[in-house]
Amino acid sequence: MRRPAVTSDDSTASEPLAPLAPGLYVTATPIGNLGDLTLRARDLLGRVDLVLAEDTRVTAKLLSAYGLKPRVERYDDHSDDARTEQVIERLETGARIALVSDAGTPLVSDPGYRLVKAAVERGLMVTALPGPSAALAALSISGLPTDRFLFAGFPPPKSAARRTFLEELATIRATLVFYETGPRLADSLADMAAVLGERPAIMARELTKLYETVVRGPLSELAADPRCDGPKGEIVIVVGPGEARVASAADADRALTEALEREGPAAAAAEVAKALGLNRRDLYRRALELKGAA
Ligand code: SAM
Repeated sequence: MRRPAVTSDDSTASEPLAPLAPGLYVTATPIGNLGDLTLRARDLLGRVDLVLAEDTRVTAKLLSAYGLKPRVERYDDHSDDARTEQVIERLETGARIALVSDAGTPLVSDPGYRLVKAAVERGLMVTALPGPSAALAALSISGLPTDRFLFAGFPPPKSAARRTFLEELATIRATLVFYETGPRLADSLADMAAVLGERPAIMARELTKLYETVVRGPLSELAADPRCDGPKGEIVIVVGPGEARVASAADADRALTEALEREGPAAAAAEVAKALGLNRRDLYRRALELKGAA
């Protein structure tokens, strides 16, 4: 497959620019502070045949701040298969196309998945110009574990669906990263406190912008904090992993004794195994001992 040649690893600002290979350039743009456009992205956006933008007016502002005048067309979540195919045909005839979204990294809760998938399937060159993303910016300043994290995107807007969504995430041993809107923030934090339990968390608002605010604390405190009650602006919530709790032998005996009052040893062992994450056979043996001792 042809590889890209936008400013090679060892090039310096004084070297002539390498020719730009045909292909799709997935290009990150600032999440607020215009100074966060990378040098490579600035260079690329001035040289491509076409920039595909989620919203052409938003991208026009960025391009004009840098004095760039590439051709810009819309490509968003409403772009259908025919539009995707049209872009693919242009790539196949040798076009150099940049894909950008309104802010941050395309495809991260933003349009572009279908286009990148189609380009990969057709064997076209696809490369990333990495840069800002609100999820990673918030995670990097969270002070929460970063060795394992799960980006969960926007929680569902209605509480019942949101709680189901959070229940699916509750057993995952990883830091969780969510996007959220100001009007839904307090309700979302309350549901997180109820379903995920008392975990450390941060609310990061307007990152890289004038009114950047970070509020840290256990989920229930964040849910009650006035700064988390319908704030304006863009928000990321980062929630630390739950504590891995290993049930003790005393915990198991207590649960088995209680279950044996209602059911036989096999059913009691199965119930407690599920609840405490312990071995069912060991619990069955212990249930027989406890029954014998009763
Ligand atoms: N593609 C983008 C990225 O890489 O971060 C995300 C696009 S998504 C449609 C927009 C959401 O990202 C916002 O609603 C907010 O949750 C989060 N976000 C974007 N910019 C932000 C910022 N400056 N501070 C905090 N959150 C931000």
